[in-house]
Amino acid sequence: MVKERWTCPYCDRDNVLDDENTKICQGETNLSDDLGTVRGIYKFTICPNPNCRKTTIKGQIHRLDRTEESDPEKLYEWQLVPESNAKQFPEYIPQKLREDYYEACLLREKSPKASATLSRRCLRGTIHDYWRITKTTLADEMAELQTVVDKTTWDAIDSVRSLGNIGVHMHLDVNAIVEVDADEPDLLIYLIEKFFTEWYMKDEDDY
Ligand SMILES: [Zn+2]
Repeated sequence: MVKERWTCPYCDRDNVLDDENTKICQGETNLSDDLGTVRGIYKFTICPNPNCRKTTIKGQIHRLDRTEESDPEKLYEWQLVPESNAKQFPEYIPQKLREDYYEACLLREKSPKASATLSRRCLRGTIHDYWRITKTTLADEMAELQTVVDKTTWDAIDSVRSLGNIGVHMHLDVNAIVEVDADEPDLLIYLIEKFFTEWYMKDEDDY
């Protein structure tokens, strides 16, 4: 196979994959009249990092069109193991916050609205726990962060909250489930990861 750059979802390290650490199992069928001839693929990857060596598994279904020379059309793709792209965070970050984060990642594809709601709750919980800032809404708490966080973190927060409806939703009750913009769940997850690494984990490094 062609060598491929890849970031491990467990250890977050950038790696180069080759035949040694990636195996593909596949089979074809034309059982379904709707789909025509399809190929099912399982892609197994073992992290090359000797301290990690964890397994990642992806599933894909491709439609094969033998009349054309074009590449097979990818019909479905599933991230099977691990179940989501959630990063592993250390146990000194409160469990309740980590759980909301993991579930927000898990629901990212299947229920973007529920994912965004969990993320907003997690962001509030993080601000309460870490900064002891408690206001009426997440939007007010976010605004208050400008006075305490460094400029780089504030710029990241500000760039997310000023986009589309994301900032508007931060004014709502934190348990409200509302329609979300397409990129909202990802951006909220990005903010949570930023808060965890910039605050809790930096403290631990300085310790
Ligand atoms: Zn790894």
